[in-house]
Amino acid sequence: MEVSRHWRLKQQRYSLVGEVCPHCDSKIFPPRDICPECGEEAIQPYKFSGRGEVYSFTTVHNPPAGHEENAPYTVALVHLDEGPMVTAQLTDVDDKTVKIGMPVEMVTRKLRSEGERGILVYGYKFRPRLLPT
Ligand SMILES: [Zn+2]
Repeated sequence: MEVSRHWRLKQQRYSLVGEVCPHCDSKIFPPRDICPECGEEAIQPYKFSGRGEVYSFTTVHNPPAGHEENAPYTVALVHLDEGPMVTAQLTDVDDKTVKIGMPVEMVTRKLRSEGERGILVYGYKFRPRLLPT
């Protein structure tokens, strides 16, 4: 049975999908079809758990155009449980309580409205992990 395109797009939008290397088992994000570890082709989709830890972070007080309504906000480099690093905005957190090593999990949030047609742009953010795993 063919997996519908709609389902695939939905998976892309609401979960963190990268790739796994069939040669060395590296988990890859964002997907780039070539394994950064061994240089072989890696096109097998892999769905990440969305869990990780804050590796480093910075609080943005003077955001670029289009992001003013959210300022100040904290952007973190998140070390995913599966290995890759991903840069993302933190949410549901006071910037004063963010710590290196803090457990976080991915959530899908509206990032901004785009243009006059009001197209909503969604993307992933990370929030402090609520439940112990
Ligand atoms: Zn590899």
